[in-house]
Amino acid sequence: MALEKQNKAVDLSHHLSNLSKARVVSPLKGLAKYMGNPNLITLAGGMPHPSYFPFADISANALVSDSFSLEPVERESSLMWVWKLLGVVNAKEKTMPITVPKFPSSSDEINLAVALQYGTAQGIVQLQKFLKEFSLKVYQPAYSDCTTLVDTGNTDGWSRAVLTLCNPGEMFLTEEWTYPSAVYASQPYNLRPVPVAMDSEGMRADDLRKVLSEWDESKRGAKRPHVMYTVPVGQNPSGATMGGERKKAIYDICVEYDVIIVEDDPYYFLQQGDYKPKSERTVATVKHSADKFLSGLAPSYLKFDYQGRVIRLDTFSKYVAPGSRLGWFTCSPQMAERLERQGETTTQAPCGFGQSLITKLLTTWKYDGYVRWLHGLAVEYKSRRDYFIDCLADEFHLKSNQAIAEGIWAGCDVLEAYGKCDGMVEKYSLGTKYFSFVPPTSGMFVWIKMHFESVPSFKEGDEETLEVQLWERIAEAGVLMAPGWYFSATNLVDSGEGHYRISFSNAEFATMKKAVNIFGKTVREFFKQ
Ligand code: PMP
Ligand code: PLP
Repeated sequence: MALEKQNKAVDLSHHLSNLSKARVVSPLKGLAKYMGNPNLITLAGGMPHPSYFPFADISANALVSDSFSLEPVERESSLMWVWKLLGVVNAKEKTMPITVPKFPSSSDEINLAVALQYGTAQGIVQLQKFLKEFSLKVYQPAYSDCTTLVDTGNTDGWSRAVLTLCNPGEMFLTEEWTYPSAVYASQPYNLRPVPVAMDSEGMRADDLRKVLSEWDESKRGAKRPHVMYTVPVGQNPSGATMGGERKKAIYDICVEYDVIIVEDDPYYFLQQGDYKPKSERTVATVKHSADKFLSGLAPSYLKFDYQGRVIRLDTFSKYVAPGSRLGWFTCSPQMAERLERQGETTTQAPCGFGQSLITKLLTTWKYDGYVRWLHGLAVEYKSRRDYFIDCLADEFHLKSNQAIAEGIWAGCDVLEAYGKCDGMVEKYSLGTKYFSFVPPTSGMFVWIKMHFESVPSFKEGDEETLEVQLWERIAEAGVLMAPGWYFSATNLVDSGEGHYRISFSNAEFATMKKAVNIFGKTVREFFKQ
């Protein structure tokens, strides 16, 4: 392994799009190389004098890094008031002041005179340093010259990757259910997704090999894809998380067929472990260790990347705030250089206010503090995930984790529940299937598969209508979920199926319970028709 790591990224310039190859360095950017010299008299750039920036400093009361407990808190509990009294719940309001001055006492300090000024598309140096150290330490790429580059989040990241890698008319590989904005970002360039079948771990390696090995250019109307877009952790919409073994298998296929992997991974640190029913859960005291927390996470594709063919997209959207519009690429220097050239003529560096405030936060928390913050968030999302599935289990009388994990459908599994459902005893005893889902182990979503074939009025070809019909009824009853068709990379629907993506990331606990009750009532009514 140590020897392998001496490898530098291989030359993958044949993957660059015509557009990307045509980009040249702006002559104005040639000035940047002189900028480090403090004695330089700069009369070249159209830069406003920093005294004209109407902020002397910016400060914030930031939360402390251990704001969230590592022991899951069941917030709907009647014991809530005891926790409040003991300060467990209020602990998250503990703050620390941070300030970014315009003119610092030392030039190494993060400061507004630099952060708000024109600079390179690489962002402020303190952020560059933090992100590079973080990525290399956490993801451990298997080649030696892996680097990082800021962007304005993963939407920007994918959009730049598309233009850097793809020529119009090409197709790219992706999961059969995928993040719609990724598809719609590429659609106007006449780029089409090629769906690869999924299972509970996400993209299947065997189907990927099948798609690539059986590619027929004349039938598909495009050459074999050389780019993959994938969301491997807490996949959007399916919630699936891929382990190291599958990633290694997929990586090796991508080496064999010369495919670049764009790893869009906004939920990486929201890994929660397996769902266990309430009765089987125990609350153990957890002592934070950054190494232990990180080593328990599924590895990134970077861990297997010995050639520099992975472009990893990270974002602060889910760990700081979506409005921070800050993220970064981790990739080979060759790709980073082309992605930077594109940023130079579009977004430039991300907003200086956000960069400086977040960098100040990260450098105050430091690496360990930031990992502690991420660990706290993962536990928060685990509580939400557990609570939401508990609500479904109560509503539909799901029997056990085993039953759910094996894909035994909720409706099928409710034999004991007949008494609770007036007039439906007979139908239940025939084993009416309502829906099924694999409990997610990461991220924000439960992806449920509806069994509309159990609706008495079901006819072949009805599925999309039934998905939309039920979705509308649930929305009219007061709960908005995302209908499955939004996420289809194929636009094909299996007979009798429909899907909903339900997010447990945002609603209050009591509201989630209410939503599940409404969902339950509406589904029961719907399946009666
Ligand atoms: N257009 C012109 C003509 C400019 O002179 C400049 C800045 N020097 C820009 C665009 C860049 O604008 P912005 O900072 O808003 O990206
Ligand atoms: N990629 C995926 C898979 C997402 O789920 C999301 C947000 O929902 C994004 C990208 C957007 O990320 P960003 O806010 O960093 O642009």
